[in-house]
Amino acid sequence: MGCGTSKVLPEPPKDVHLHLVKKVEPYSGYKNDIYKHFIKDDGGEAIKATIPSPPRHTNPYASGCSPTHLDQTEPRKNRVAKYRAKFDPRVTAKYDIKALIGRGSFSRVVRVEHKATKQPFAIKMIETKYREGREVCESELCVLRRVRHTNIIQLIEVFESQERVYMVMELATGGELFDRIIAKGSFTERDATRVLQMVLDGVKYLHTLGITHRDLKPENLLYYHPGMDSKIMITDFGLASARKKGDDCLMKTTCGTPEYIAPEILVRKPYTNSVDMWALGVISYILLSGTMPFEDDNRTRLYRQILKGKYSYSGEHALCFRSKIHLL
Ligand code: ADP
Ligand code: MG
Repeated sequence: MGCGTSKVLPEPPKDVHLHLVKKVEPYSGYKNDIYKHFIKDDGGEAIKATIPSPPRHTNPYASGCSPTHLDQTEPRKNRVAKYRAKFDPRVTAKYDIKALIGRGSFSRVVRVEHKATKQPFAIKMIETKYREGREVCESELCVLRRVRHTNIIQLIEVFESQERVYMVMELATGGELFDRIIAKGSFTERDATRVLQMVLDGVKYLHTLGITHRDLKPENLLYYHPGMDSKIMITDFGLASARKKGDDCLMKTTCGTPEYIAPEILVRKPYTNSVDMWALGVISYILLSGTMPFEDDNRTRLYRQILKGKYSYSGEHALCFRSKIHLL
């Protein structure tokens, strides 16, 4: 496990033009930040940023450690009280805030209970004070309002206040695919196929509607319930692109999670929804081998690996992966 204290984003490599990093979210201490330095660049000037480096495993999937979701040191009651205070009275009039279940750069996700029906839901609260938060929120709502599919989290209702948006969503209680990979190490080819089939069904539906997710990764794939036979649901449409009919389907925005980013995004070529298929390839590799295909603490080297398609393919894991691929 490598634990750096600070990290300076690498210079773009000389042989490729990677004026990539428009905005890098600072480490917030949560699991999703193990490698998530959210990138979004709409074509403006590149900046170099210094970010504190998260304590991280060299390979989050190979570590065998369960990631820490939320700060366990603070008593749960205090945490809930703190987040309850951030909720609009219209929301708390209708829903009981039960627990904080997820936290991202601009959002908090809480488990709630509908007061009248006692039905559980998830509420994603997004801070819209800053431009980035507003953009993420707009993308997410624009997609969630349009979709209805068994493998996609369903939006139930939305509350908006001056500084926050509250999205009431279906609750997935089975945890993230990320956690199951950590728990299992790797999946059998049969289990991996099942997972991928469900994700592909959801992605196919999105692509038919002209929607590209652009941030597919195991943290954004949730199990509906804790059972082995649970379905998978795609969530987190904060980076999604939704095209209108007749729109040319090329996208230009540089965004995603570094380890899952497709090469065409890195070289800033206009790209299509096939970037989701690239991410699915990365996820397939992780599922079958329990390791990341492209991984490096150094962002420049990571992007070079991706651009060259130079994935790690050695040792025990590779053999295991190769034999599983043959079986598929
Ligand atoms: P972010 O943009 O901050 O990554 P996400 O939508 O991915 O936001 O939510 C963060 C985390 O919260 C998810 O990875 C997941 O663990 C949890 N989460 C989000 N939505 C739900 C939901 N509907 N049901 C259960 N957990 C959820
Ligand atoms: Mg997410």
